[in-house]
Amino acid sequence: MPSPNAESTAFRSALEVIRAVEPRVADAITAELTDQRESLKLIASENYASPATLLAMGNWFSDKYAEGTVGRRFYAGCQNVDTVEALAAEHAKELFGATHAYVQPHSGIDANLVAFWAVLADRVEVPALRKAQVRQVNDLTEEDWFTLRRELGNQRMLGMSLDAGGHLTHGFRPNISGKMFDQRSYGTDPVTGLIDYDKVAEAAREFKPMILVAGYSAYPRKVNFRIMREIADSVGATFMVDMAHFAGLVAGKVFTGDFDPVPHAHIVTTTTHKSLRGPRGGMVLCGPELADQVDRGCPMVLGGPLPHVMAAKAVALAEARRPDFAGYAQRIVDNAQALAEGLLSRGATLVTGGTDNHLVLIDVSGYGLTGRQAEQALLDSGIVTNRNSVPQDRNGAWYTSGIRIGTPALTTRGLGVAEMDATAELIHTVLSQTTTGSNADGTASKAKYVLDPALADKVSRQATDLLSAFPLYPSVDLA
Ligand SMILES: *Cc1c(COP(=O)(O)O)cnc(C)c1O
Repeated sequence: MPSPNAESTAFRSALEVIRAVEPRVADAITAELTDQRESLKLIASENYASPATLLAMGNWFSDKYAEGTVGRRFYAGCQNVDTVEALAAEHAKELFGATHAYVQPHSGIDANLVAFWAVLADRVEVPALRKAQVRQVNDLTEEDWFTLRRELGNQRMLGMSLDAGGHLTHGFRPNISGKMFDQRSYGTDPVTGLIDYDKVAEAAREFKPMILVAGYSAYPRKVNFRIMREIADSVGATFMVDMAHFAGLVAGKVFTGDFDPVPHAHIVTTTTHKSLRGPRGGMVLCGPELADQVDRGCPMVLGGPLPHVMAAKAVALAEARRPDFAGYAQRIVDNAQALAEGLLSRGATLVTGGTDNHLVLIDVSGYGLTGRQAEQALLDSGIVTNRNSVPQDRNGAWYTSGIRIGTPALTTRGLGVAEMDATAELIHTVLSQTTTGSNADGTASKAKYVLDPALADKVSRQATDLLSAFPLYPSVDLA
């Protein structure tokens, strides 16, 4: 444990130093802490990193260029970067039971690009690419380059559809993955809302993807990775899992056996800042077969590594290896289930009827609202969520019909099952008292809504009261 005032002193001093140069930045940082302290944060992808993790990012590691990998850099003087990168990788391997960990990706999307490149380089059968792998790119003929580009651009990916909870980077048009790959998606069962593994197997048989992707941003259930691997094997696909959202539940051993992606997937990607509670960043885990290609992430795909963030990853991963992290991970799920129960008992409609992970997806069409109306009405009431498509969404990806809520952040603050019921009451109160507004021509709007400001204020105060017993960053006093 640091000495009693160490964290307050550290942040206060940092702000004093920043304020002397650009006071508006210091003020914005301070205001951000106040905002985070006062709002009921239910964004499923956010969390609160520890003071140690935050402090590990604010230092001279930021000044260092370190392209390459540990012990094999394109720049001199990387011995201390080597130390932190090796530590982060070591912690990641131990934590997840992986043989290889690549901790340089700057974000989850970057981690996916590194993984796609690794799989393509491993799988695409182009003699030219084999040469490229041994770094003899100068030897490639014009013809080689032509073949290489054609083959790289004609591979297939099968991933979870966006509106069933998949992620943009799993082959959708607004993301480069949807332009790199010929993509097809699997959805969820229209009645149960669950992944239908027989349908996935059927799609795989028909489409014969090179990469089968599992993982999600908005699916409130466990995924059976053993079955998904069998499906991949049956068609010769590489099985990739993007555990960006639920890495904390894997780290905390809530997802084990068939539900732990690491023993089943050829390659696993993640963010480090969601349920894992580290700094903003990404990571790739894999076996020895793909390790060399993954390690080419920078400069093949990524810009220069961020050594200060790798230092923070090492700190956060060390925290996740401590025994209390498993308790945290279990409480995330207990809280999500309590929140789901609280909403269901008050009459809300939930996609799949509940949750067995950290997130809950409310179908707000049951309240006669779009996701956009619900998101704004909740925000007016001090409750921070985000709108999200539901399966077969009739309101499209902009307005949507869903609200996604998650418990990693509130669980970090210490809120428990009783507070989740109180939170469900606040959410239900707002949604049931909000009505659709009209456009200028009198038709029903998908964006405008009507909510009594007095009610929004009241709920906002109740939310603040609920949080007051669970101070955020209690060890940090900026006053
Ligand atoms: C959040 C998320 C990402 C992207 O992470 P960024 O750090 O925002 O780039 C990728 N995949 C999934 C499944 C996610 O949920």
